[in-house]
Amino acid sequence: MPLKYQSYGCRFKCGHKHSSNYWLIFRHEEQCWYNPEVKSCITCRHGELVHDSCTSFCGYEITERWEYRTCDVDPDIEFDGIKPQINCINWEEICHAN
Ligand SMILES: [Zn+2]
Repeated sequence: MPLKYQSYGCRFKCGHKHSSNYWLIFRHEEQCWYNPEVKSCITCRHGELVHDSCTSFCGYEITERWEYRTCDVDPDIEFDGIKPQINCINWEEICHAN
């Protein structure tokens, strides 16, 4: 008879690894970038993760791809790679209406 294990996962479905430790996931959720209360770029209507690429031909084709974040409200934000800002004063909920 197989053993039954119970595990917890982030309710914001960020892809965070599941754990059998309830409090580990609970504390994660409080800081999860997908938690609207954290006010990160990921849940903000002004934030965007841009996928960019550049193809060059120097004898053979080379395609470079990279991602970066932008903010419609404050273009001066210097992002640390693709890490979103959190607790942003310009944060606004993503509007799901048409
Ligand atoms: Zn999460």
